[in-house]
Amino acid sequence: MNCELRIGNGYDVHRLAPGLKLTLGGLEIAHSKGCVAHSDGDVLIHALCDALLGALAMGDIGHHFPDTSSEFKGIDSKILLKRTYDMILGRGYSLVNADLTLLLQAPKVAPYIEQMRSTLASVMGVGVDAVSVKATTEERLGFTGREEGVAAYAVVLLAKN
Ligand code: MG
Repeated sequence: MNCELRIGNGYDVHRLAPGLKLTLGGLEIAHSKGCVAHSDGDVLIHALCDALLGALAMGDIGHHFPDTSSEFKGIDSKILLKRTYDMILGRGYSLVNADLTLLLQAPKVAPYIEQMRSTLASVMGVGVDAVSVKATTEERLGFTGREEGVAAYAVVLLAKN
């Protein structure tokens, strides 16, 4: 790789089920449903990890942290993000910025957005201005609209150090 800048995108979905913990953007959010997952089901972090890995053509999160491994059962996804970003740094790149979008019908996550930004930024050791978190509903359409699942998109830009 001889390019100074690399772009990556990520996408993730988790199914929602009653009575589980809902963890998004590194925060536990009070809600009647949570994500069904091998890890803590943090779709926003998983999309971000995939975008980081994708930017350097390093495969995907399932390749590095397989859901068949007991090591990752119930794991805090912030640990996966830290390990992913450490791999990026190890390749001589660092984050310019990340732009993340969460798609869910409920609950309203606006009150959590700033804390998600600072949490994700601090896990990666970057400035909070490098991490954008947005959220939208899909107008009650599709699986997010029916509150059957949560989805997230991530785009990142990396620069060679
Ligand atoms: Mg996932």
